[in-house]
Amino acid sequence: MTPFESVNLFFTRAADICGLSESTRRVLSVSHREVRAEVPLRRDDGSLEVYIGYRVQHDNSRGPFKGGVRYHPGAELDEVRALASLMTWKTALVDVPFGGSKGGVQVDPSGLSRPELERLTRAYTRAMRGIIGPGIDIPALDMGTDAQVMAWMLDEYEELEGHSPAVVTGKPVALGGSPGRTSATGRGTIVVLDELMRVRGKDPAGTTLAIQGFGNVGSWAAKVAVERGYTVVAVSDVEGAIHRGGGIDIAALDRHATEAGTVVGFAGADPLDGDDLLTLDVDVLVPAALGEVIHHGNAEQISADIVLEGANHPTTPEADEILASRGITVVPDILTNAGGVTVSYFEWVQNTQRFRWPEERVNDELGLVLSSAFHNVHQLSIERSCSLRDAAFAIAVGRVAEAAELRGAL
Ligand code: GLU
Repeated sequence: MTPFESVNLFFTRAADICGLSESTRRVLSVSHREVRAEVPLRRDDGSLEVYIGYRVQHDNSRGPFKGGVRYHPGAELDEVRALASLMTWKTALVDVPFGGSKGGVQVDPSGLSRPELERLTRAYTRAMRGIIGPGIDIPALDMGTDAQVMAWMLDEYEELEGHSPAVVTGKPVALGGSPGRTSATGRGTIVVLDELMRVRGKDPAGTTLAIQGFGNVGSWAAKVAVERGYTVVAVSDVEGAIHRGGGIDIAALDRHATEAGTVVGFAGADPLDGDDLLTLDVDVLVPAALGEVIHHGNAEQISADIVLEGANHPTTPEADEILASRGITVVPDILTNAGGVTVSYFEWVQNTQRFRWPEERVNDELGLVLSSAFHNVHQLSIERSCSLRDAAFAIAVGRVAEAAELRGAL
């Protein structure tokens, strides 16, 4: 099953719960538009490389297309298509007035110099010029891209179209970015975990977390988790993993990772095999890196009580069923990692209104949006005796379907 087929399986189950008509199902199970473009790059040594870039726009019934741009060798069309559709469901679930899209360039950014990364970003932006815009489709950061990449994207777009700060989100604050955007996705995962713990009558103290990935999502999830009293016992990145039963000093780890470029070699914990992190006996497992890392081959070995999906699509549908049959709660990606796009929306609002919010306001409003989304999902999962994922997709699909049908084309 391809990534897009997997996401569509979740969509189909939700469509059944919502009783969606055949025509609405058909429209929402394919992308609205898919652009594949050549992205030429003049390397520093004078040679020419040609990469392939995509922008997939899944649905815009509820507002302009919205979604990140990923620089990763695995950013193939089907993968980008799956991620674009997840953005449609994510924005609908947290009820921000956007649709869903995603971009990608099949490139390993770690092999490029900074000037090369800048030229690549400008070439990608020019290639997508006609289909992005503040009221059309708003890119943001994702795996392999960061605030600096957004700054270049903004600058290239403004060269062509004039002042338009709302064309990308996740920009540096100095260029109109929102305070709190960098931490938003990681913070959001922990806000959602807090709400789950509350309805279960459990306390963060004594609750252990293993976090796969120490990039933007994983590192902020770790920091906020520790702030709120959880114990982070294991962390990994592409180089390997570390473990300390009594809890890792995340501030010290952060300093080490900034200097060394990896969590590996951190003196305050023991080394661990990267794959073993997933099967550790912890209360909460947070996959916050690549997709499809929990699959039929390892789902039986997952020992956590809760899987908190910080990454997009980290669990295959097969693994999802295995985890459910083993009584493991999966908190779905479209809820758990929706903090990023929620604060992207706040950023877009601030750009549109030419008015900046203080970080405290951003974090407070993020908390309100995610806790309300969590309680809606939790309530529906009880009413329908279904998983949190099915409930989350049902709410999202219901909202998108209503908007699409009201527009009258179906
Ligand atoms: N790339 C992030 C995501 O997958 C954020 C997207 C956005 O802010 O538009 O949710």
